[in-house]
Amino acid sequence: MKRTVIIMVELFQSIEKLKGVGKVRASKYKKLNINTPYELFFHYPKSYINFQDTISVNNAPLNEYCSVKCRIIKKHQEQRIRQNLTIFKASAVDDENTEFMIVFFNNAYTFNYLTENEQYYLYGKINQNNVTLKKEMNSPQVVNIYAKNLIKPVYRLTEGLTNPIVTSHMTEAIKILDANGIEILPYNIIKENNLMTMIEAIKNIHFPSSMEAMHQARYRMAFDELLKLQLGMLMLKKRNHNKTGYVMSPDTDISEFYQNIPFELTNAQKNAVNEITDDMCRNEPMNRLLQGDVGSGKTAVAACCAYFAYKNGCQTALMAPTEILATQHYNTLSQYLEPLGVKICLLTGSVPAKQKTKIKKMIADGEYSLIIGTHAIIQKDLEYYNLGLVITDEQHRFGVEQRNALAMKGESPHKLVMSATPIPRTLGLIIYGDLDISILNELPKGRIPVKTYAVTEKLRQRAFNFIKKYLDDGKQAYIVCPMIEESESDLQSVISYADEIRKNEFKDYNVGLLHGKMSSAEKDEEMEKFKNGITDLLVCTTVVEVGVDVPNAVIMLIENSDRFGLSQLHQLRGRVGRGKDESHCILITNNVSEESLQRIKAITSTSDGFKIAEEDLKLRGPGDFFGKKQHGLPNLKIADISSDMELVHLTNKIAHDIIEKDPELEDKYHGALRVEVIRLFSQNGENSLD
Ligand code: ADP
Ligand code: MG
Repeated sequence: MKRTVIIMVELFQSIEKLKGVGKVRASKYKKLNINTPYELFFHYPKSYINFQDTISVNNAPLNEYCSVKCRIIKKHQEQRIRQNLTIFKASAVDDENTEFMIVFFNNAYTFNYLTENEQYYLYGKINQNNVTLKKEMNSPQVVNIYAKNLIKPVYRLTEGLTNPIVTSHMTEAIKILDANGIEILPYNIIKENNLMTMIEAIKNIHFPSSMEAMHQARYRMAFDELLKLQLGMLMLKKRNHNKTGYVMSPDTDISEFYQNIPFELTNAQKNAVNEITDDMCRNEPMNRLLQGDVGSGKTAVAACCAYFAYKNGCQTALMAPTEILATQHYNTLSQYLEPLGVKICLLTGSVPAKQKTKIKKMIADGEYSLIIGTHAIIQKDLEYYNLGLVITDEQHRFGVEQRNALAMKGESPHKLVMSATPIPRTLGLIIYGDLDISILNELPKGRIPVKTYAVTEKLRQRAFNFIKKYLDDGKQAYIVCPMIEESESDLQSVISYADEIRKNEFKDYNVGLLHGKMSSAEKDEEMEKFKNGITDLLVCTTVVEVGVDVPNAVIMLIENSDRFGLSQLHQLRGRVGRGKDESHCILITNNVSEESLQRIKAITSTSDGFKIAEEDLKLRGPGDFFGKKQHGLPNLKIADISSDMELVHLTNKIAHDIIEKDPELEDKYHGALRVEVIRLFSQNGENSLD
């Protein structure tokens, strides 16, 4: 028993103490975020060398890594070329009896490992000798065909740590593990899901006994990772629910709201309003996501809920990711709610300091009931009077931290987040696992899907003529140019693009320009001109991607459409088709690759944002799904949300079962899991579970 304890401590003490590591290398490991032998286990190989996956010398592509099975027929006399260069050569034959030469430079050690007439696997590159024209393999890795481990790990490295070094440390760490044991899952979960034990999985992920064993090991490690993540999310959710928020009255009369808006809500909108207002009447804070495709009418739902809060004497804060959007919400909601007596203010970065101070004071005094703005509304010095509801729009643009920062403002106010990017359910479980979800799966009546075409450069002139036809009819259009990563050269090309078409193609029209590097005042001015129909054609970057609503704009042309993600294209095209008229979206593409064609097919054949999102996830993987923006969750090291979808669902169910019975993982069988979950979330600031 005593021994057990000592060994466990060894796994969790500094990696410096591990045999062969020491101070210097420990500091290198720190760069890889590895501090203990235990953490080393989670430094998974990025690939493997499978010595058994062989090819014959004649079939081997030149100059590419491959494995060859051979028999040594003769070891030649070493050749000392100069003082520090000795060449060792051996003749060998492969399975097909093709003779070739094995060459080592200064590596007597490996050469001496070879014995004539014995068989080996070699891993290296086959080349053709320029003089003899014979095939040869230089400096291969060598293993005897009877060796135990014929699949070797290849690790991600950092300066000072080579693959053999990391491999030897891993061997040492596994020795400690072997002498004892470790298991974080309760036995019944392992059994019911046919999992490898943790020990077997760790061994086989690093030193697989077969490829099959490696896959099982990977499955087990991915299982653990997804389970831990989802347990953590559910724990956050449960904790949140323990605190009391503002309890509102189920008898609140909001019929005036319905009378004052210019349309009737769709059934989906009504359902969402019911789900949200039900939540707000409970004595635990709401934590809900409103997901709806572009144009499904999330703003009206938000307005209705804000009115509900207002009738209950509570303030609502609505945060939008850009000033344009905040301003637009301000205008729309003022129209819906001011006639009903709701006092609304707009607070963005560009409000002059003096006025800001005044607004802030009025917010603190409770004179405003609805506060709309950008992240200016989560600043520390801003005090609310009685903030009962916080709404964040286009939520995927904000990290989880910002989402929470806004919620810290009141005494656990109700939280509603609205996302315009439909996301696949699998990804939703991971990213929004701490939220309840309402879905707007219906568009307002009479919407006609945007007709989308992909054309090449050659048809540009026709596309321009097509646009002009509509402009002449009094309609408006967008031309979107890529401006990824705020790069200076992209910016320049957007500006010169606008200049160019102003001078030539569209000289008879009013062409506006909108990009992210303009000041807020300039952006507002441009947007205002477009809204009022002063500009006919707006050249813009993805600043218009989110939420902008100008129903008279019915055509969008997207330049260089290959540079955008599918969901982003869908989002962009959602800027048109917002009125009663048929709308068009023209994608200019010059890429005819297989992937590009698949993308085009996906975007032109459906207008269902959820389907497009699934496709996007498949094509690009989860890392790129939200672009470079952080979503504030622990990074996944081994599970892959797009290819492990089933595993996400399975572990989600298991996590629910566990948390249902044991919300804080206090059961003795869950002790190790609890430690792991807290560790995973502790690298995560705001979302810490401690
Ligand atoms: P999103 O969900 O993309 O944020 P918006 O809230 O901007 O969508 O709404 C898109 C457009 O649909 C707006 O012009 C809005 O006035 C209109 N709209 C919203 N709900 C309805 C409805 N029930 N009937 C008709 N039009 C609606
Ligand atoms: Mg919106």
